[in-house]
Amino acid sequence: MAEQEASGLQVLLSTLQSSQDKDIILNILSVLTNLLPLGTSRRIHYVISKGGSEALLEALATAARAEPPDHGILLPLLRLLARVGQRDRKFGLKVQKAEATDIILSLARRNLGCHLHLTHCLWVLKVCASNVTTGTTLGINGAMELLFKVITPYSKRHVRIVRAAIEALAALLKSKSNSRRAVNRGYLGGLLRLYQDWHHKDVSNNYIYIRRALLLCLKHITNIQLGRETFLGSQGMKILFTSVQDCLPCKTLDPIINTAVQILRKCYPKEPLPVMTVGSSYSFPLPGNAKAESLCERDEGDYESDGEEETEKDLDHEDMESKEEDYDLETDVNKLRSRPVLDWPKEELVQYEAMCQELSHDFQELDSESEEEKSLEDRTESLFSTPSHFIPSATSVKHPNYRWKSQTVTEMGPDPGEKDFKIPRQSWTRREKCRWNLTDEKRDIAEGAQDAVSCEEEDPARSHTLTLRPLPKEAAWYKKMFCPDCEASSNYSPGGDEVANLLEKYQREIPFHSPHFYMARAKCVKSIAGYKDLAFPDFWGHQPPPYSKPMLERKDGVQRDKVLDDIRRLIQPGDVTGRTVFDLDEPSSSSPGAPGCLKFFSEFESGNLRKAIQVREFEYDLIMNADVNTNQHHQWFYFEVRDMKLAVPYRFNIINCEKFNSQFNYGMQLVMYSVKEALQGRPRWFRAGHDICYYRNHYCCSAAAGGSTRGKGYYTLTFSIKFPHKDDVCYLAYHYPYTYSTMMSHLDILESSRNPKKVYWRQQTLCQSLGGNPCPLLTITAMPDSKKRDDLGQFYNRPYVFLMARVHPGESNASWVMKGTLEFLVSSDPIADLLRKCFIFKIVPMLNPDGVINGNHRCSLSGDDLNRQWLTPSSQLHPTIYHAKGLLYYLCSIGRAPLVFCDYHGHSQKNNVFLYGCSIKETLWQAGCMVDTAVITEDVGYRTLPKILDKVAPAFVMNSCSFLVEKSRESTARVVVWKEMGVLRSYTMESTYCGCSHGLYKGLQLGTQELEEMGSKFCLGLLILHLKSLPCSKKVMAQAALLLDLEEEITDRAQRSCSNSNLETDDEPPCGEEIDYNTDSCSDGEGDLELDQEIQECLSWVEGEVEDEGVATEQTCSSKAPRGLYISSQPASDNRSHPLRSTALGVYSGFKSSPA
Ligand SMILES: [Zn+2]
Repeated sequence: MAEQEASGLQVLLSTLQSSQDKDIILNILSVLTNLLPLGTSRRIHYVISKGGSEALLEALATAARAEPPDHGILLPLLRLLARVGQRDRKFGLKVQKAEATDIILSLARRNLGCHLHLTHCLWVLKVCASNVTTGTTLGINGAMELLFKVITPYSKRHVRIVRAAIEALAALLKSKSNSRRAVNRGYLGGLLRLYQDWHHKDVSNNYIYIRRALLLCLKHITNIQLGRETFLGSQGMKILFTSVQDCLPCKTLDPIINTAVQILRKCYPKEPLPVMTVGSSYSFPLPGNAKAESLCERDEGDYESDGEEETEKDLDHEDMESKEEDYDLETDVNKLRSRPVLDWPKEELVQYEAMCQELSHDFQELDSESEEEKSLEDRTESLFSTPSHFIPSATSVKHPNYRWKSQTVTEMGPDPGEKDFKIPRQSWTRREKCRWNLTDEKRDIAEGAQDAVSCEEEDPARSHTLTLRPLPKEAAWYKKMFCPDCEASSNYSPGGDEVANLLEKYQREIPFHSPHFYMARAKCVKSIAGYKDLAFPDFWGHQPPPYSKPMLERKDGVQRDKVLDDIRRLIQPGDVTGRTVFDLDEPSSSSPGAPGCLKFFSEFESGNLRKAIQVREFEYDLIMNADVNTNQHHQWFYFEVRDMKLAVPYRFNIINCEKFNSQFNYGMQLVMYSVKEALQGRPRWFRAGHDICYYRNHYCCSAAAGGSTRGKGYYTLTFSIKFPHKDDVCYLAYHYPYTYSTMMSHLDILESSRNPKKVYWRQQTLCQSLGGNPCPLLTITAMPDSKKRDDLGQFYNRPYVFLMARVHPGESNASWVMKGTLEFLVSSDPIADLLRKCFIFKIVPMLNPDGVINGNHRCSLSGDDLNRQWLTPSSQLHPTIYHAKGLLYYLCSIGRAPLVFCDYHGHSQKNNVFLYGCSIKETLWQAGCMVDTAVITEDVGYRTLPKILDKVAPAFVMNSCSFLVEKSRESTARVVVWKEMGVLRSYTMESTYCGCSHGLYKGLQLGTQELEEMGSKFCLGLLILHLKSLPCSKKVMAQAALLLDLEEEITDRAQRSCSNSNLETDDEPPCGEEIDYNTDSCSDGEGDLELDQEIQECLSWVEGEVEDEGVATEQTCSSKAPRGLYISSQPASDNRSHPLRSTALGVYSGFKSSPA
């Protein structure tokens, strides 16, 4: 049946091609017209698949040859061609093959005088020109001259023709050679004048489509360098900018405004970044002859040439990149198979024995007498204490989605009654002293050098003086805060005793933070710049705000407004101040202290700001510093700003961002810390900033400044901030900062606050970093129950879990997750207790101390991405990686490869928290590999932990996880540990910088509390994994059953995730405004339906005989007579007797069963 129907259509089409009989042709055209009602595509695609385009083109050739041409045939034919052609992707080729370009052009020429005919010809011309090759041919044969003649000079007569002609011209100008021709003939200026005429005279906005089509012409012409230059020379920027200002108040003019803004952005003359060199302000001499410069890997593409082919590459880890190269690894089973073969020299491995002393410790110090006491304590705890005690949970989330049952979880941090964790303010001195003494006793020689105290006592050269940044200056405020009784101290500047004074008076108890410990640690830090200042937030501490903040709703048109503001700098240069107010490279050249001007500062740990330029009174351009020894990786920022006015929105533009997109476009805010707020009892980083967006700007890397990165384009992150206080000192950052000293002092506190009877804690130094900072290695497990053989046996045989974080310094979220993990692991929570009995944890909490200290985003001091060095790390250049890998190798060599390996990261493009793992099968499958995956056996145990986390951790989403082993990830920790050491459960854990798209925190931005919670829930997940996958003693199982109430928890979570299960992973919420990064895009955003509508309008006009556009006096159109018959929407009545009728009906019904 279907075949019959198909053949029916084919008969119809072949008759159309071959017939010379006018009536038959007219009837076929009529049938086709009726079969293909306006506004539908499906049937047209079917006709195309049956050779419809070819048949119509052939019929056109025949009809055009007739002398005189028969417009009764030509008009319906041209309409069909236009409609079929625009949906036929190969139409251009078919036109060329049929040699129809000349026919269409000459038809148009002959009909210049007849509006209706000409309009029809122009429709087809436009459709033909959508193929660039065909468009070029048409251009060579004079199509543009013809069209230009039709559209100029400005006239409102015959608007339909003008519209069709301008649209056809826009299509032709997609061809670069046509654009060049148009510029050379001076058409660009003509188009601009025409646009101005239409803009000024179309007062009631009746001809938006004509104005937009003119802009499309300009948009295509300016894709070539010559076009942009001519556009600038013809005052194009000013003309379009001014016209846009007129259009802004009217919402219906958005299509015009958006297209004009695209052109303005593209033509804005490229400028080099206002820095001497894009290479980092900091350089570090590398050991040996190692290269000092990591060259930029991006595609270059000189911006002075035609930049259409610019490619964007995202260098983020775990993102899609260089897919072509991936196939080797991804499809080669042998390469994929992990091969746990050790190729580390045996004698090299011996050094790591000292890092696994737990395996030889005999615990003679355990006092057997106290065992009874201890077991009693155990019992009481497991019976009476509340489980999950120290799993910090974001119970303070106040949000409609809030459903988390939390009876068993304390509100904020540790229970105040818990002695182990309390570091009372009053006893700072005593506690501190006590701790240091404790460490002194315990310190063994090998570790001594890294301790904060030792660095002060044994090596005074290492320790330097650090000053807390000056506090807000307002004298009256000061006096009130610090010196209520003292009139004379208006020049108060805290430091030394004053700091103690300040802390005594205003420091609030922040769990697991101590300003004194921080100060002590920070003094020993080795930075390239030799920091002398302490940023207030790191010193004072951060307490998470009580509320989670929803993702920021994007304001309609925010990007457009910001871009127009940028373009205004070019149009009205008189408004621009252009004063450098902060310059890391040349401190003397900056002119701070100008009245009403903000002051910036960034020379402190993790700080990153290179230059600040005041653009207008309340607007600043900011430039980030590149990673040390590189000229790229600008993303992380952290700086101080002071002397602000109240209630004024300040606009900041970070103008040298590199990624092609950012979560800042999807609701993410930066974070801010106000010193005045902190001193008033709200010491916290909070999400701030409005009117945030991220877009491509006109800056590029000049040859002189960038060497190999020449021509690279940059992006702007723009945000506005209203500061909470006048004359405050505020800090702004990409994400919640977490410095090296924060981590070191946190470890100090953890060590001193743990219960040494229960928690085995050992802090060693994995190695010194390149910059001379110790990289700590922790060993955490439970103390053995006693020194009896059985208990020691259980202790020695616990499987290892290996955790790492912060190999990428800009990913401070990873540190907050790690903080949660560590606090949970040493807590007195009975679950933690049980977990410690199940595993020995080896943890490297900060793999890249130097990067963190010096404000890098991605790299170490060698300018290398350390997470790309795991295949062959260099002991000289990548010591932390070399030794982390060595330690892992050592564990493998003694048969103790970790059960779970996880490297904590942050992800800048995706929402939620998720894992990347490794699976041969999933990789082959994804690569579309033909290998019979049935014969490859693979343990699917790698999926268990993420499944558990999906149930227990509210921020975690299984759907976001991926288990592919991409070629581009070949040298990451995850893949190397999986492949070389045979660790099945080898993961990267990625935490978003932004928020969650699923689950409990859906629509919320993550705060430090949620990140820390993730860290502790990860521990809970490990315990459940242990219970599920490993043989457990009855005792452990019983304790677990008592503590976990597993079933309930899992069911609870399952129900919750069920209700969200159909929310597929659309990571980026739609944003109202089209985010246009590639201003060279050739898409005009026109749908198929637009031309249909145009035809429909034209037909109703013809039928209604309404000549609303002036009288066509020059000629007579003789073809109107038969149109009723062939245009009618009803089948003509005399079709009844036509021999082809049954076939035609067959065709018709055939559509019903044709494939969609
Ligand atoms: Zn990372």
